Amino acid sequence: MKAQITQPITSQKVAVIGAGVSGLVVARELRQEGHHVIVFEQNNKIGGTWVYNPNTDSDLLSLDPSRTIVHTSLYESLRTNLPREALGFRAYPFIAKEEDKHRDPRRFPGHREVLHYLEDFVSEFGLSELIRFETEVVHVEFMEQRKCAVRSRTKDGNVDNEVFNAVVVCNGHHTVPNVAEVPCIDVWPGKQVHSHNYRVPGPFREKVVVVIGGAFSAFDISREIAGVAKEVHVASRSITNANPTKQLGYDNMWLHSMVRYKFDFPFLDKGVVTVDDNRVGMLYQHIFPPKFAPWLSFVGLTWKFSTFPLYEVQSKWVAGILSGRISLPTQDEMIKDVEAFYLKFEADGIPKRYTHNIWDYQFKYYDWLAAQCQIPPIEEWRSQMYAANGMNRNVRPEAYRDEWEDQNLILQAHDDFLQPLDKGTAEHWNNGNSAEMEVKDSDGGCAVGARQIN
Ligand SMILES: Cc1cc2nc3c(=O)[nH]c(=O)nc-3n(C[C@H](O)[C@H](O)[C@H](O)COP(=O)(O)OP(=O)(O)OC[C@H]3O[C@@H](n4cnc5c(N)ncnc54)[C@H](O)[C@@H]3O)c2cc1C
Repeated sequence: MKAQITQPITSQKVAVIGAGVSGLVVARELRQEGHHVIVFEQNNKIGGTWVYNPNTDSDLLSLDPSRTIVHTSLYESLRTNLPREALGFRAYPFIAKEEDKHRDPRRFPGHREVLHYLEDFVSEFGLSELIRFETEVVHVEFMEQRKCAVRSRTKDGNVDNEVFNAVVVCNGHHTVPNVAEVPCIDVWPGKQVHSHNYRVPGPFREKVVVVIGGAFSAFDISREIAGVAKEVHVASRSITNANPTKQLGYDNMWLHSMVRYKFDFPFLDKGVVTVDDNRVGMLYQHIFPPKFAPWLSFVGLTWKFSTFPLYEVQSKWVAGILSGRISLPTQDEMIKDVEAFYLKFEADGIPKRYTHNIWDYQFKYYDWLAAQCQIPPIEEWRSQMYAANGMNRNVRPEAYRDEWEDQNLILQAHDDFLQPLDKGTAEHWNNGNSAEMEVKDSDGGCAVGARQIN
């Protein structure tokens, strides 16, 4: 790979679509790199998925295009599936605020605590001034000379057109359900609900319930419903036993072999990217469509990984490429790279819908991006904590959020949070005015704060 796209280090005017986890960290990284940033957020607050809403879509299967749409899929009882040490951004650890009685200090906190953490992040880095709330991006058009026209619409119906040098798409992928195709489901008399519209177990009392899906949400929701329902049947692609098996510890829950969400970019013209069986194509390293790189990018498409730190390094890469500090391969080289990736998928017989599932190579992917950005690879304690958490979840499926044995890793994490970030790469982690650290001690009784630069 000899030829590289090179540009002088330069500041770009960048539009970010969405102020969820990915949009917020993109905004921070872009600004730190010296870009001029505007974040468009259709909601009236930051947080995306983490803004709980007891209301649901008006169509509980979310199929009716004219339905009222609620962005979040959170259910009332949701607690994080990762411990807070591993979940948080590297430059802004997610440390319990024990001294604040309104906060949730648990290691696997409820969803409200995650939203508070994101609000702290916004306030720490002064990001709210970059965000245009209640403003939906309705169309993005790529013009000549590497310019993009972004059309947005406010809640009051005012439409605005503005020209940017680049667009980063961070619109999330947990809002448009991919409803399982079940033969004859249309003549089945029962009520159907996608998990996007599940909030509390009450409506399922004394009912016979089928839960389709095997991811974390299905795992939690089926257990919660089993507490009130007559029978719960979990149907999942990940269950391979052809015969129904009873779920350990439950008299009324059975597992059957057999819900995903869809990527959706209604503001992009057809052909900019394709979505085929949930493969967003084509994207170099899950981020850049070669034809539009680096002026269009996607942060937060990858799944099955601790989202926050990965989005952080993806954002850093995008910001560095847009300024010209980091180079991309040529368009042809990127296309060849993606084609080789697809060929490997086909050769291994893996369905396209798993294209952005990075579970098997998550740390390798992280470290590749980190190397591009010249920041240290993923922390040893963090990767060990993911593994320990996974094992603990297998051993204690009901109690893993409250009982664990990786105390040594917690201590290592807190010790690490007290260390300043690596000096050589400090400018890529923190901007000058936010380098104060408020961490008080290393046993969990700490305040959240940005990490110090050496
Ligand atoms: C039920 C559930 C539980 C989860 N639990 C965990 C967990 O425990 N740990 C974990 O790490 N991850 C978890 N996740 C994954 C979670 O999605 C990510 O942590 C993260 O919130 C994704 O952030 P995002 O910014 O990419 O997307 P989102 O949070 O979806 O944010 C997208 C934002 O874009 C805005 N937007 C969309 N379209 C437009 C537009 N056209 N114009 C303007 N604004 C727009 C939306 O309003 C929203 O604010 C969970 C997800 C779900 C659904």
